[in-house]
Amino acid sequence: MRSFYRGRIAPSPTGYLHLGHARTFWLAMERARASEGTLVYREEDLDFNRCNKKYSKAAIEDLSWFGLEWQEGITKADQESFKQSNRINIYLDALEKLKKLNLIYPCNKSRQDIKKIQISNKKNKTEPIYPEHWRADLDDYENFEFTTGYNWRFRIPNKKNICFNDERLGPCQFKCGEDFGDFIVWRKDGIPSYELAVVVDDIKMKISEVVRGEDLLISTARQILIYNALGFNTPKFYHAPLLVDSEGIKLSKTKNSMALRELKQLGFTPNSLRECEEWWSGIDD
Ligand code: GLU
Repeated sequence: MRSFYRGRIAPSPTGYLHLGHARTFWLAMERARASEGTLVYREEDLDFNRCNKKYSKAAIEDLSWFGLEWQEGITKADQESFKQSNRINIYLDALEKLKKLNLIYPCNKSRQDIKKIQISNKKNKTEPIYPEHWRADLDDYENFEFTTGYNWRFRIPNKKNICFNDERLGPCQFKCGEDFGDFIVWRKDGIPSYELAVVVDDIKMKISEVVRGEDLLISTARQILIYNALGFNTPKFYHAPLLVDSEGIKLSKTKNSMALRELKQLGFTPNSLRECEEWWSGIDD
């Protein structure tokens, strides 16, 4: 019988998977195995502009070739029901709940608007902080529907420190309003943001430990706010080191770097890839 441990691997079909994905997923599988637990396969296909069915198919083929095994999300029916694009109503329920709690508000500012006023975050240059004075008041939007063509943002508790203990990195801390600002939970095109969808899925799928790349560390802080708001305990988190190429640059789908299927075509075997120098980079820190 399998233990209480439930992990997941959650590829996005926006390109061919590379060795970096394979390694993170491999770590997720090893951690699930070590606890005699269950690993779930879930497709995160909410980025409709970039997602493509050929990448969905390729992801399963490539990961299976690589030796990845999971216990849920195997049958076609399960794969369909775990696919985020088929779960929009589930996310909508959570959104309604956040609205009732007065934790979200509609916003018609563009990314450019936010950049322009340059309230940029000193520590985290990648994300300008959404200014507090642009927050809407409850009275202004009580009757707004989620179909109004607005983004919806989560109202962060300013100055609050979000602390968690990462299973690999130890204690981590992010400060609301400094490291990140009010973030989008629902996009104006009627699609939930990554932050909302992933939390709702991890709750629904009873995930006990999230294993993913450390580029998502700050997302974990945002997601903890959503868990708390929805009244659920957070799972454990293990953020894996990112795989870099021989020049020290992070692998990415856009650069098509070390795509698994290319490596396969070049004659590499999964075993040889798991023994290469890159595979071990950062893994033993
Ligand atoms: N779908 C994300 C990716 O492919 C993973 C997100 C997560 O594990 O939370 O990078």
